[in-house]
Amino acid sequence: MPDPNPDRIGPSPSPDFSRAAGGLRVSVDLNRCQAYAQCCYAAPDHFVLHGAEALHYDPAPTAAARDAIERARVACPVQAILVEDAGNGRP
Ligand code: SF4
Repeated sequence: MPDPNPDRIGPSPSPDFSRAAGGLRVSVDLNRCQAYAQCCYAAPDHFVLHGAEALHYDPAPTAAARDAIERARVACPVQAILVEDAGNGRP
């Protein structure tokens, strides 16, 4: 007998493990970075410029830093900052 409600047939949505984990993965393309320091102003707890060119940054901030990291990403004039959800370590 055919299912009277075919809309309920199909794969279940998979859980979003990356959201559940909540952490972030940050990387900066240092070939693109021109040391403008806008990220350091936007998120000083996560981006620090040492000297004229050495940018130090937190590659694995917690979810609580998401807003600050996003401000830094948007502020970068050369779009050198990549932000991803860290996921849960599963492939
Ligand atoms: S704002 Fe962009 S270019 Fe400037 S220091 Fe940060 S990553 Fe580098």
